Amino acid sequence: MTVERYGELGSAARILLGPGPSEPDPRVMQAMITPVVGHLDPAFLNVMNDTRDLLRSAFATANRLTVAMSGTGSAGMETCMVNLLEPGDRAVICVNGAFGERMAEMARRTGAETVIVRAPWGQPIDPADVEEALKQGGAKIVAFVHVETSTGVCQPVEEIASCARAYGALSVLDAVSSLGGMPVRIDEWGIDAAYSGSQKCLGAPPGLAPVTLNDRARERIARRKGAVQSWYLDLTLIENYWGEARAYHHTAPISMVYALREALRVAAAEGWEARFERHRRLGRALQAGLAAMGLELLAPREYRAPVVTAVRVPDGVDEAAVRRRLLAEYGIEIAGGLGELKGQVWRIGLMGYSCRWRNVVLLLSALGAVLRDLGIQASVDEALSASAEALAAGD
Ligand SMILES: *Cc1c(COP(=O)(O)O)cnc(C)c1O
Repeated sequence: MTVERYGELGSAARILLGPGPSEPDPRVMQAMITPVVGHLDPAFLNVMNDTRDLLRSAFATANRLTVAMSGTGSAGMETCMVNLLEPGDRAVICVNGAFGERMAEMARRTGAETVIVRAPWGQPIDPADVEEALKQGGAKIVAFVHVETSTGVCQPVEEIASCARAYGALSVLDAVSSLGGMPVRIDEWGIDAAYSGSQKCLGAPPGLAPVTLNDRARERIARRKGAVQSWYLDLTLIENYWGEARAYHHTAPISMVYALREALRVAAAEGWEARFERHRRLGRALQAGLAAMGLELLAPREYRAPVVTAVRVPDGVDEAAVRRRLLAEYGIEIAGGLGELKGQVWRIGLMGYSCRWRNVVLLLSALGAVLRDLGIQASVDEALSASAEALAAGD
């Protein structure tokens, strides 16, 4: 083996406009080169405490059990499933996209009996269907996705949460792509458990999964008949490390915690409401531009999330070839469709530090140019002026 084969790691500077990872704020990358210390060093324990406090602020919760799990958003999802479900439990899982499907698969693997409430991909879940499923009785949880990143649909949360509570089930919310970019009000909405990921609107690299559980959810775990099947994701053990006891469980990914703390600090300094407003306005501006280009957006307007937009690929266009050209010629990354939308949509994210006006202009210009090259009528001028108008109108 000749080591010369492997050059130094050179990053191809990209403009990350997919559904995650987003481009981290330079201050976050800077925080990651802070020297690594021991995971029980008092200096690091302070960093953990800060991260916890900032996470509570992000989730708008006072929940004691608020931690960052070591792993990506899916680890947060699995944490909620394996801690809250036991074999034989009934779980109502809402599925209107790829991430709802993933929740259902994880719930099944715990040995729970899953009752699936479906809506077509591109539509929200109807709370009346959730209530219908709960009427069968005995459901331990109702799990649903806030922003279904595979479709760009934003699910109204409160009605499903209160329905779950009325039937004695815990509500579990996937806030992976919404946290940090849209209001996620855990306490006000009555959500019992929620999880997210560091690399979407929070603006850190992938690697940590914020999770928060209220006391009702903690009590459910305390009353389990058997131990949590996953030792690594067992919240009763994790709580002893993040809490007062500081009992060693696994080595915290030190540099990632630095990054998440900095990302949260930067976000809190911007102001949560200002940050949500930035995402909302730029998301609407992007969507206005895409529509003016003649493209069709998948989600109905009233359920359209600002942070990720699914756009239908025009007939006869090879969607992967367009993405390849955006990457090769402009350095812009967007994503294709997942699951049943594979080949049919592009997914464009405006998350965290990536969510900037200059990126909206770049994307509309580059996509318009590529489409015109392929013989699709797409006016960049019209797209840019519609987008600027929407931004100015602020609606
Ligand atoms: C990205 C995402 C996930 C999975 O997160 P990973 O970090 O890829 O493991 C789960 N749910 C939603 C809604 C997501 O957008």
